Amino acid sequence: MKKFTFRGGVHPYDGKELTENEPVRTLEPGRELAFLLTQHIGAPAVPTVKKGDRVLTGQLLGEAGGFVSARVFSSVSGTVKGIEKRRTAKGDFADAVIVENDFLYESVPFEPLEGMEAYQALFGQMSSSGWYGLHELGTRDAEKVLEAIKPDSHLRDMHPSDVLKRIREAGVVGMGGAGFPTHVKLSPSDPEKIDYVLINGSECEPYVTCDYRLMCERPGELIAGLKAVLKLFGDVQGIFCIEDNKPEAIEILRKALRREEHIYVAPCRTKYPEGAERSLIKAITHRDVNSKMLPADAGCIVVNVSTAYAIFEAVFLGKPDYKRLMTVSGDAIASPGNFLVPTGMYYSEVIQRAGGFLQPPEKLIAGGPMMGFAQGGMDSVTTKTSSALTAFSLDIVSREKETPCINCGRCADACPAHLVPSHLAGMVERHELDQFEENYGMECVNCGSCSWSCPAKRPLAALITQGRQTILARKRKAMK
Ligand code: SF4
Ligand code: SF4
Repeated sequence: MKKFTFRGGVHPYDGKELTENEPVRTLEPGRELAFLLTQHIGAPAVPTVKKGDRVLTGQLLGEAGGFVSARVFSSVSGTVKGIEKRRTAKGDFADAVIVENDFLYESVPFEPLEGMEAYQALFGQMSSSGWYGLHELGTRDAEKVLEAIKPDSHLRDMHPSDVLKRIREAGVVGMGGAGFPTHVKLSPSDPEKIDYVLINGSECEPYVTCDYRLMCERPGELIAGLKAVLKLFGDVQGIFCIEDNKPEAIEILRKALRREEHIYVAPCRTKYPEGAERSLIKAITHRDVNSKMLPADAGCIVVNVSTAYAIFEAVFLGKPDYKRLMTVSGDAIASPGNFLVPTGMYYSEVIQRAGGFLQPPEKLIAGGPMMGFAQGGMDSVTTKTSSALTAFSLDIVSREKETPCINCGRCADACPAHLVPSHLAGMVERHELDQFEENYGMECVNCGSCSWSCPAKRPLAALITQGRQTILARKRKAMK
């Protein structure tokens, strides 16, 4: 079987056995939820509600604040307590709409496409918490699901602009972590140039398995979501890109796609950071994307698996993006698993309702250990991009002692961007930012592979990120 791959990368312990066989469970939200107005890249959403307003599940809380922006919705019914600052996963503060949950889960009416009753009937009635099928995300028969959704006949009758409109109105953003508004990503300047739509099911980040569970448990919906994207670009190839450490997902999707002519599964060799957009495009198409390009410039649209699911819900069910699958894992978690969580839920409540800590963690990370953000507390909240919370009993990294570089070259071998991290980090330490730029420092994708592979424990990725951020800040200042 052909397997796709890229040059560079590393093989960290992936910890996926802790959660990969855990079917998705539902987490009920607590009394207070905080909906950040910056759950995406771009302009913050503009609040559409005020203190004292009653809101329903799925109600708009914030309108997109510009073209590159996205709408924000409530995941519960209740009363708006105000607009207040709340901590983001990155540690800074941003405006959030605070809603007191009334636990009634009264919902705004969604606008599914005509004939979606057959799909909804597969799940019975909505659960008491107001979600479709949330109460039992069991493995589904993809053929039966697709028969009920009828994506081909629905999409045949739709204009591409209607598909895009439903995605924009539902506030869908890239749920793999970047949070780029999906309607913008799906509107490239030259749509004719697109010949690949890649559904990113690599999930190379250690410990995270929520995309894997989604591929195993909702393959029919993911295929329908991909078909909605393909509608925007005509006769192009749709590819599910999945690392070969997920044979069950590969098998389920292959079986479901056996009669499709333009959609197939590409198994990728398991290697971090396979799921980084540039690595994935290189592996599948052999095309290069640099920091001045978008994937669309290389003829590719890359959509994360969770985003494809949100696209399905937006286009076919008319349902806004206000919940997501999340992995809660690590050796400090009592009962690691995958959960369907509402946006706006405090990390402390997520952990507590997922079963709590086995022991107090020395390190809590929003996301996975390679690209996630270390947390100083548990007062941040879930957003559309919250893929994981990972808690470790020991903070091994902080115990490591840095020693001088021994010129072994491992960091350069590991770098998927073909950089020499040891040199770039030295340039940042010496404040040689012009040389840093001349040596392609801006091409770093911040994957951390260099730091992970360094026997001298040099904080290479952190230094290179610092260099990139200083240069970007300098450029922003010059443009003012
Ligand atoms: S230099 Fe950047 S892209 Fe290269 S390995 Fe380090 S973090 Fe990854
Ligand atoms: S991996 Fe570490 S020790 Fe080896 S060359 Fe790079 S910075 Fe130096």
